[in-house]
Amino acid sequence: MPGMEDLTGRVFDRLTVVGLEHRDNKGRLQWYCICKCGKVTIVRSNSLKHKKTKSCGCLRNELAAVRLRERHLKKREDKKQTASPPSA
Ligand SMILES: [Zn+2]
Repeated sequence: MPGMEDLTGRVFDRLTVVGLEHRDNKGRLQWYCICKCGKVTIVRSNSLKHKKTKSCGCLRNELAAVRLRERHLKKREDKKQTASPPSA
């Protein structure tokens, strides 16, 4: 059947496809995926193939945490520079 691609066993970044979950009424396939962090998540074929979904969500959370930390550090750095008392 055209468009019916079996993704079982394929790896998409952090996700490994373990099997078909179901097919929705528009013929879109939803796959059971296991994330590297150990969580199971269900992802549509297109999201996997177009790399819209690369993890159960932990990747996004990690990136957000890193960005937040960087921003926080930068702010502290700025503060230190502007808040340092004049040496005179
Ligand atoms: Zn994960």
